[in-house]
Amino acid sequence: MSKILLVGANHAGTAAANTILDNYPGSELTIVDRNDNISYLGCGTALWIGRQISGSEGLFYSSAEALAAKGAKVCMETEVEFVDFGAKTAAARTKDGGVLSLSYDKLILAMGSLPIIPKIPGIELENIQTVKLFQDGRQANALLDNPEIKTVAVIGAGYIGVELAEAVRRRGRRALLFEAESTSLASYYDESLTADMDKVLGDNGVELHFGERVQSFKGDKKVSGVVTDKGEYQIDMAIMAIGFRPNASLAAGHLDTIGNGAISVDLHQRTSLPDVYAIGDCASIYSNALRGWTYIALATNAVRSGIVAAHNVCGTPLESSGVQGANGISIFGYNMVSAGLSEKAAKKAGFSPLVTDYAALQKPAFMANNNEVKLRIVYDSGTRRVLGAQMASYENISMCIHMFSLAIEEGVTLDKLKLLDIFFLPHFNQPYNYITMAALNAK
Ligand SMILES: Cc1cc2nc3c(=O)[nH]c(=O)nc-3n(C[C@H](O)[C@H](O)[C@H](O)COP(=O)(O)OP(=O)(O)OC[C@H]3O[C@@H](n4cnc5c(N)ncnc54)[C@H](O)[C@@H]3O)c2cc1C
Repeated sequence: MSKILLVGANHAGTAAANTILDNYPGSELTIVDRNDNISYLGCGTALWIGRQISGSEGLFYSSAEALAAKGAKVCMETEVEFVDFGAKTAAARTKDGGVLSLSYDKLILAMGSLPIIPKIPGIELENIQTVKLFQDGRQANALLDNPEIKTVAVIGAGYIGVELAEAVRRRGRRALLFEAESTSLASYYDESLTADMDKVLGDNGVELHFGERVQSFKGDKKVSGVVTDKGEYQIDMAIMAIGFRPNASLAAGHLDTIGNGAISVDLHQRTSLPDVYAIGDCASIYSNALRGWTYIALATNAVRSGIVAAHNVCGTPLESSGVQGANGISIFGYNMVSAGLSEKAAKKAGFSPLVTDYAALQKPAFMANNNEVKLRIVYDSGTRRVLGAQMASYENISMCIHMFSLAIEEGVTLDKLKLLDIFFLPHFNQPYNYITMAALNAK
């Protein structure tokens, strides 16, 4: 049995560890993580801070003890500082400052990602908060318990910034949402859909400062102001949510990387060195929409990549199917889901995309509790391959995007959707389903 060393045990690492321990009994697995907790669901941070759930207790699904009980050697609060890829050894620093020397036959790197912190004046002031770790959630929560915190600037209107802006409003504070792009959620959706989300945010009291770039923070010890290219605003707290970068410094200069520094992997999660695998947010990922390698930091991708790596490490060949970046968001009850590329993203990637839009009530008009659903399908004008889909509604339309995810994965053309067998029952949908209609109406 080979000696496996796993660096990082959040979503990707935990998935890899469980796959190894559950399927390959007797494996010699050492897990090293610098944090004091495992498997924190960051997706729950906004729900917790916004008091939509009662506390943080349910936001973990594994623990060091659970992995140790299955047979792993688990070293928490221990940071791997150096890997000698030639000698197959690693040096780690323990909580009390000691050095741990480790050796491996197979190495799985699962160091995840780090929040992007811009180097702008005032960024070091107190009460400027990132939201990545459980500890960050706890700190943000404690700050919002302080009645002196009345106005909060959220920087970045991607899905995390939008969720946090909602949470701040739910805590009864002023929320100023700053975004350099002209809409929220600009990486995943086109403006015909984000306009509705922006309205939902505005209607619920989030003050939108879009097309506005934050340049500095002001304050004496604690943050008291934010300065943008358009103005200056008094604030008591800021939440930084402008994105994440791969945490791959251990690999720098040793393993091939893609443009943003993520470790380059193949469909088996193998890196450019034999016996070294990378998974989750620190690694590249294959996009079926792009038909190329890219970077998409999502827990779902992390888990799948962990499963794939674990089987390959233990001798069972398994290929990743690639991903579509399928994602969802629910803000003040308004739901948006997407998979693949928006029109904007498709153009940026060099496609000549066409779109077909359709909006209809979810159910026949005679049914109560019925809301409009918006659907946009993006497809390639030449091949007519589906490149992406976006949906929005107060209805729960989340399950529908999985069909589009599979369509993108399988290279399905838009025309295939025209006569797809879609069931009808008034409780759920219309006889002329919006997927059928969007496809039939397409150019
Ligand atoms: C607020 C928030 C909300 C989110 N919501 C969603 C969502 O709804 N859906 C979704 O799919 N994704 C969501 N994500 C993204 C998701 O959390 C990440 O994609 C996921 O955490 C990636 O998992 P990972 O294991 O690759 O990396 P990480 O979660 O970053 O974990 C990396 C682990 O490696 C450890 N580590 C790093 N360096 C070392 C070292 N040198 N030595 C030892 N240990 C080390 C860290 O302590 C950490 O435990 C959200 C993220 C945030 C922050």
